[in-house]
Amino acid sequence: VTSGYDVVVAGGGPAGSVCALVLARAGARVLLCERGRRGTFGGGESLPAAARPLLRDLGLWEAFTADGHLPSYGSRSAWGAASLAGHAAVFDPYGHGWLLDRPRFDAFLRAAAVASGAVLSGGVGAESACWTVDATGRTAAVARRLGARRVEDDRAVAVVQRYAAAPGDVDATTLVEAVRDGWWYTARVPSGERVVVYVTDPDLPASYDVSSTRHVFGLVAGCAPLGPAVRVPARAGRLVPYSGSAWLAAGDAAQSFDPLSSQGILTALFGGLAAAEAVLSGDVDAYAARLDTVRATYQRNRLLYYATEDRWPDAPFWRRRRSVPPAGFEPAAHGLGNRCSIP
Ligand SMILES: Cc1cc2nc3c(=O)[nH]c(=O)nc-3n(C[C@H](O)[C@H](O)[C@H](O)COP(=O)(O)OP(=O)(O)OC[C@H]3O[C@@H](n4cnc5c(N)ncnc54)[C@H](O)[C@@H]3O)c2cc1C
Repeated sequence: VTSGYDVVVAGGGPAGSVCALVLARAGARVLLCERGRRGTFGGGESLPAAARPLLRDLGLWEAFTADGHLPSYGSRSAWGAASLAGHAAVFDPYGHGWLLDRPRFDAFLRAAAVASGAVLSGGVGAESACWTVDATGRTAAVARRLGARRVEDDRAVAVVQRYAAAPGDVDATTLVEAVRDGWWYTARVPSGERVVVYVTDPDLPASYDVSSTRHVFGLVAGCAPLGPAVRVPARAGRLVPYSGSAWLAAGDAAQSFDPLSSQGILTALFGGLAAAEAVLSGDVDAYAARLDTVRATYQRNRLLYYATEDRWPDAPFWRRRRSVPPAGFEPAAHGLGNRCSIP
């Protein structure tokens, strides 16, 4: 058992790195444990423009914008109809979002945490500290060892295929297309690749047949696939409870979201900050109340968006996710945002 740290942060993704950075800047002795991401999931993830004020407050904005991520100018979606409808970032008060080089983004945040005084190490061992923050992602590895359990909203999986982007492919949007057994999205990533993702349920025929799509296929027809398609978990859910004696969970370890929302990274950044504040104040009840509010808003919006796709009322994928939208909901006024504007 080693000691000498006030806080051990397990997991150096967005939530863990921001948490470690804020704690270290507040004078805490922080050990940030990152075992190295297994596999190479790069989901063509986008960071919504709403991340701008947070990155500014953390003093990271200038360096982030110089780090080679691609501007994202909104989304186009065939959702509720076979034809594509657009949502332009020009209508977003924060401006455009970003198509991330995810490994680079994570390394950037970890380096910022280390520059702030956190000590970086490998996997979580038997370190002792006053507090442990579990930021290990959906696995919630530490919290589950401490007796917490995950409650899953669905059992979604994502089948991810990377392509060498077509020469002249300068598309700066994310394209979303609903189909009978799930939905597809595709986006370019800064490395010159285009990522195509099929989100479905594991009990449905999940063969990756991009040629069956009406819109996505047009962006990768003739492009060389890079390696085989990879299947990754995409389940939404939460941890019960969010915290315990001298530990709390942050980011996906606390709550993971439907990939349709494209809000996981943004919420993980804010969650890392909130977790650090909870450790500093000791007020874990306020922290849990904050997470409950985020989850309630997310769940409401998720139902609303799934309710707007009614072309396959009997198909299990949609039946499992649909409900009647409340009075006054106008999908056209909301758009599908940055994939979709939840919350
Ligand atoms: C198909 C798909 C598409 C998505 N698209 C988007 C999108 O467009 N925009 C968006 O914002 N979000 C998106 N997300 C969600 C996003 O990927 C997550 O919400 C985000 O990565 C959560 O950050 P985190 O820091 O909580 O966890 P993670 O990013 O999962 O980081 C956890 C870290 O902990 C480390 N770790 C795990 N176990 C241990 C251990 N025992 N010891 C030490 N380290 C450990 C891992 O290596 C990892 O680096 C998508 C998710 C999926 C599945």
